[in-house]
Amino acid sequence: MIKDNLQNINDNIRRACENSGRSISDVKLIAVSKTKPVEMLKEAYDLGCRLFGENRVQELQEKMPVLPSDIEWHMIGHLQTNKIKYIIGKVALIHSVDTLHLAEAIDKEAEKHSCTQDILIEINVAGESSKFGTADMELNRQLIKDVSKLKNLKLKGLMTVAPYTDDPEENRVYFRALKQLADDMEGYFADKPVLSMGMTGDYTVAIEEGAAYVRVGTGLFGERDYGNI
Ligand SMILES: *Cc1c(COP(=O)(O)O)cnc(C)c1O
Repeated sequence: MIKDNLQNINDNIRRACENSGRSISDVKLIAVSKTKPVEMLKEAYDLGCRLFGENRVQELQEKMPVLPSDIEWHMIGHLQTNKIKYIIGKVALIHSVDTLHLAEAIDKEAEKHSCTQDILIEINVAGESSKFGTADMELNRQLIKDVSKLKNLKLKGLMTVAPYTDDPEENRVYFRALKQLADDMEGYFADKPVLSMGMTGDYTVAIEEGAAYVRVGTGLFGERDYGNI
């Protein structure tokens, strides 16, 4: 099942790149493996997946030591400051930095561990109350400026979780807005800013609008069962 799903996703990614004149090497698939057992991650790994996304620190702590060391782990979920110490320097990228307070706490922990942590700032482009981050673009511009000054962080770009929808076209406007914000603030990022956007329902549209990372869970591993966690 994972094999067919992965082939399907890779085909869709290739087509979205062709449609938008982007290079396939500029788009990376993050296999979102939250709630899934390590056997399934191993299967995806054997099929070529090397980037995995988790949203809970505890799950990262359980899975990282028992899976191959060349996996690039991505923290995509809400992060509490008291748990930063467990993942600092061990995850390739923290996608979900939504406040200056959290950024400063990660910066402090990175200094303690003598490392530099790559991060993204999470933007709530659609302003949904159920999501983290804010839709206030003035506040977001200030947040980007403030975070860019922290010495032990590398601000690589922006991330958003778009609304759940049956019609991915509805999210195109939000992906465009994220790209616009990144372009407007380009000078504050460590390099040319990257965008983490697009999930199972809308990743092809996200790629057309400039996504560098797409985060796909259900489309790769199947529906999640939250019953046993
Ligand atoms: C769960 C999750 C995903 C994957 O969602 P699917 O719809 O299953 O592809 C992507 N991003 C974040 C932040 C998530 O929490």
